[in-house]
Amino acid sequence: MTASIIDGKAIAAELRGKVTEAVHRLLRDRGFVPGIAVVLVGQNPASEVYVRNKSKAVTEAGMRPFDRHLPESVNEAELLDLIAQLNADPAVHGILVQLPLPKQIDSQKIIAAIDPDKDIDGFHPMNAGRLASGLPGLVPCTPLGCIILAKKVHASLTGLEAVVIGRSNIVGKPVAQLLLAENATVTVAHSKTRDLPAVCRRADLLVAAIGRAEMVRGDWIKPGATVIDVGINRVAGQGGKTRIVGDVAAEVAQAAGALTPVPGGVGPMTIACLLANTLRAACMQRGLPAPNIGS
Ligand code: NDP
Repeated sequence: MTASIIDGKAIAAELRGKVTEAVHRLLRDRGFVPGIAVVLVGQNPASEVYVRNKSKAVTEAGMRPFDRHLPESVNEAELLDLIAQLNADPAVHGILVQLPLPKQIDSQKIIAAIDPDKDIDGFHPMNAGRLASGLPGLVPCTPLGCIILAKKVHASLTGLEAVVIGRSNIVGKPVAQLLLAENATVTVAHSKTRDLPAVCRRADLLVAAIGRAEMVRGDWIKPGATVIDVGINRVAGQGGKTRIVGDVAAEVAQAAGALTPVPGGVGPMTIACLLANTLRAACMQRGLPAPNIGS
């Protein structure tokens, strides 16, 4: 068996297209466009690339960017001041603070200072609590992307055995909560899990969010299972160049029924879901119904 490849790039492009149409409708019918503030602190090269890609996507979707770039030396009070200004600005509907932050700044304190209604990353404890309680709120983008991709393979996730490897607050835990909300039977595995291959072999749907290059092997996979590979790992390639690989080894394609590639799987969904979240946040703040864009 060779797995069918779940084309995250195409699915993300479709979602971005729907967001863009909805943004144009908002401008035409309601006279405003969603505004999004991406806050970058310092000069982390990976963060700079992410932020550039996000800003490009924001503009392409017809949204208004309010990007802020602060020096590495900024202190916590100054960053909290900026968050307070953005919270108070009615033209800003979504706020994203690019992580990691310099060590003099407590990330948890900054995240908690963002207005939960503008928290398009879905990392605020209020939104994490809403997700855990089954209440509507803003949901983290990468986990949301994973669910959209899984639902391209399975019209319904009800009753599926789902295994999530990883329990971080930004990926593993919210993916598990979303799968539970979809009525899957969910197991969350982590570094202390005993006999991880055997746990994985139970899965109809396996989500790998570990951060270890190609750790999941072919014989961990139940034949025909759907595998969502969240990992982004830089490894040495030929000629001293680095290449990006996932948490899942290439041989998994021989056992799985469907598989997300790396790159081109979950990665592109993250930005598409960020735009969808900003659109939702803007509608919520204006008292409008949530847009029907299938996310
Ligand atoms: P974290 O490092 O925060 O979490 C990793 C999780 O994997 C932890 O829960 C850890 O367990 C678990 N783990 C580590 N080693 C093992 C092991 N040997 N066996 C079983 N479990 C293990 O990472 P993130 O959740 O932030 O990210 C995970 C991956 O997803 C990374 O590669 C990251 O780059 C990628 N990512 C991709 C995104 C995208 O847009 N596609 C967005 C965000 C992340 P424990 O809790 O016990 O330590």
